[in-house]
Amino acid sequence: MGLGSLRSASTAAVRRWRRGVPWAPPPRPRRGLGGVAPGVSESPPTFGFLFDIDGVLVRGRYVIPAAQKAFRKLIGSNGQLRVPVVFVTNAGNCLQHVKAQELSDALGLEVSPEQVILSHSPLRLFRQFHEKCMLVSGQGPVEENARNMGFRNVVTIQDVRKAFPLLDMVDQSRRPKELPPLTTDFPTIEGIILFGEPVRWETSLQLIIDVLLSNGNPGAELAAVPYPHIPILACNMDLLWMAEAKMPRFGHGTFLVCLENIYKKVTGRELKYEALIGKPSIVTYQYAEYLIKQQVERRGWPSSICRLYAVGDNPMSDIYGANFYNSYIKAAGQAHAQAEVKRSVGMADPRSEGHSELGKDLYVSLESCKSILVCTGVYSHHGDVPTDPHESVTETVFHGHRDFHFDPSLVEASYVVEDVNEAVELVFKKENWSQE
Ligand SMILES: [Mg+2]
Repeated sequence: MGLGSLRSASTAAVRRWRRGVPWAPPPRPRRGLGGVAPGVSESPPTFGFLFDIDGVLVRGRYVIPAAQKAFRKLIGSNGQLRVPVVFVTNAGNCLQHVKAQELSDALGLEVSPEQVILSHSPLRLFRQFHEKCMLVSGQGPVEENARNMGFRNVVTIQDVRKAFPLLDMVDQSRRPKELPPLTTDFPTIEGIILFGEPVRWETSLQLIIDVLLSNGNPGAELAAVPYPHIPILACNMDLLWMAEAKMPRFGHGTFLVCLENIYKKVTGRELKYEALIGKPSIVTYQYAEYLIKQQVERRGWPSSICRLYAVGDNPMSDIYGANFYNSYIKAAGQAHAQAEVKRSVGMADPRSEGHSELGKDLYVSLESCKSILVCTGVYSHHGDVPTDPHESVTETVFHGHRDFHFDPSLVEASYVVEDVNEAVELVFKKENWSQE
């Protein structure tokens, strides 16, 4: 069977299952940075910023005042950003243009959807899965997000639950009252996308395990457990995150810990990921660099960006990710060293054949990616600022993902400051830029 017929089989199967369910195309994004005329009066920037959102710019629904101060410095007299900026968040239970609008309202400037990287945004690069029948897990607009990323054949946990009502049995009140008829026309699931933490964890955990153990056919009875199992793409590995509450909340990383451990306990084997996406993975930073370069082109800045400054509140995702990318940049010219870095996290090269439609654009041209830790979120939100950044590592337990090796040097920030306003001041000082 050729690739074309495989594609049409998946598409037809999902369409059969979804008869009568129309899908509306996503709304057109508002005009972002594209089309903005050049005309800044100062010298063109050779550096850019990656800002985390939660714990750096906002805390839940509240804007951190330092963020508004910082952006008053970042906006020039022409009302445009003086340097390229990308917002990189591991949040994923929303749409990119909605997050851009939230940031616009919070910061008092027009943030384009093309400046926002959600945890799942790099899924656009994984086009070898775009025609396959993918099960999506998470909450919020996961189906729409999957389609926006290019996936054409998507089924949800709710679809599986509806098709196979005897599988979800933990909540006694949700068990079927009568024996339902057998489902025979549900499409074979060929891969799973874990977007973010779902609600009703017991339902998602049970059904995802069922799909893995049944090789994508949860209605079937199998003699042996298939291994390797069907591919899993997981976004957002954050174990914890910080909202309005005093203590950190469960993140998607906690859900992944549950899934990995259940799978291992049941099968005796390791759950494997085709890809881990979102901070601190390399592919997310490559995608950020790609978007920064696009901004530079659109603004007509004649310079190229040599240095990135990544501002975040989470040592295990923001700082680890920025430092890890910095080590990747340093190793970029040495094929052997690159391979070693990628091997250390069990990651395939996202620029390799089949991984990326943007492969030619994901070349590394940076000199460095420096990490700046702020104290307005997960890290030391009640504590003092350490004067020595080497004293900033207070993590005694590794909160990173199972497949990322703990390296204490990677969670040491290049700089530690009180808040994002101080971070911008620090960078402008280092780059000899005026604070106005
Ligand atoms: Mg954060």
